[in-house]
Amino acid sequence: MTVRIREADYVTAGGSVYPVRADMARGHLMIIASGGTMDLEPSFGDNLDPGDPNFSIVMYDPGPQDLTTNPGRVRQRLKDMVDEGADNQVIGVDGSTIWSDGSTVETMPAFALGNTVFYDTSNSNGAGRWIIGINGINGNRECTNPAVILFHELAHAFHNHGPGDPVTEEQEAIADENWLREALGLVPRDPDRREGGAGCPGGDCCIVATVACGSPYAPSVNRLRRLRDDVLRHSTLGARFFDELFREYYAFSVEIARILVRDAQARAQVEQWLVRPLVGILEVMKGYRLAPHDVKGLGGNLLALLRENPAATPEQARAACHLLEALAAGGAADEVADDNEATRRIRALLASWLPRSPHVIWGILGPLRIHGAASLRFADNTDAEAAGRWLTERIDAWLRTLPLHTLGELSPELIDEFAASLFAEEEARRALSRAWRERHARRDESIAPFEPWSLP
Ligand SMILES: [Zn+2]
Repeated sequence: MTVRIREADYVTAGGSVYPVRADMARGHLMIIASGGTMDLEPSFGDNLDPGDPNFSIVMYDPGPQDLTTNPGRVRQRLKDMVDEGADNQVIGVDGSTIWSDGSTVETMPAFALGNTVFYDTSNSNGAGRWIIGINGINGNRECTNPAVILFHELAHAFHNHGPGDPVTEEQEAIADENWLREALGLVPRDPDRREGGAGCPGGDCCIVATVACGSPYAPSVNRLRRLRDDVLRHSTLGARFFDELFREYYAFSVEIARILVRDAQARAQVEQWLVRPLVGILEVMKGYRLAPHDVKGLGGNLLALLRENPAATPEQARAACHLLEALAAGGAADEVADDNEATRRIRALLASWLPRSPHVIWGILGPLRIHGAASLRFADNTDAEAAGRWLTERIDAWLRTLPLHTLGELSPELIDEFAASLFAEEEARRALSRAWRERHARRDESIAPFEPWSLP
């Protein structure tokens, strides 16, 4: 038949339910379809299966491939499977899945049953995974990621490997897996070593950033990952927050990534107006966590960021700010002069998804609004002290509006722990913890990061 993505949750013959994340499976297949190069392949897409609405059918026709290269081999493999008579099914499950034998995704991230591939889309619930790289002497652990794991299992399906996984079949699947690993710039896996496990930071995260920056290992994407791993992974609430943000983000970001694949202008705009400002402002804000009283230093970093990354024109900066304000308020923004079809579709997607995505609004739109307002206010300013004071107030206001009510059961200890993970300084931790506890006690569930701003 072809390659099909499972859209609905999967129920085993024994009645176990595997919760399915089709949007993430789509994103991982997209990385495979691009040959791991992010030299993106516009023919990749999928349509709901008219014969079975539990599935969508993958479409893919990248044209002739150079089979002497790893990206060419990866693309050709997916193309062959799409054209194959076999019904290859991709079942991407979420991190809460308990396989029918009782094991978790951490102990068993993936397996293939004939042409049906089951794999964990969550990268061991965000902890990442390691395998053994080539030339490994006593444990050369290297990170892997869900797209690579999926490609490995697809190799088993392609070669019609039986159950039981004999050594030669595993070597064959690892050899194929290494095409994608090398195309992604990862160390190839040792075909004779099958060890692996959970825990390897720096797996896949931000598909929009990845596409916009042209490579999964572009500096901006790595900086975003580092921020995530440094800031959010160290507390229970931080990890819960990130999981929620990730879930919301993936619901629409694969669709956005697909639009970006086809449109270089939209890619450049997302990089300029979204990825770079976001990474830059989050890094400046990270300085505030470490030294909240160094107002001048903070302001200096903000001004340096604005100089390093100037808006193209003041009008464009203003238009970007108005767009952010409109999206944060839950509305669609007015047309922007240099909009094209692709950017209009992206804005429509954001306008429809953001009202349902409080963690994305807070975690992504919030910092972008701060950056946008700063770029208008301090474009030609050299007063680091004033910029630092302004930014301090903005960050404090932003932190206080974290959407706490969505993070499950909250105890004062969890709130303290989260505040402590954010601030190095005792006084700053206590202030934040107090603000959160009060807000929680009031049952304040507002999600707007700020009152609407009057822009200069
Ligand atoms: Zn295998």
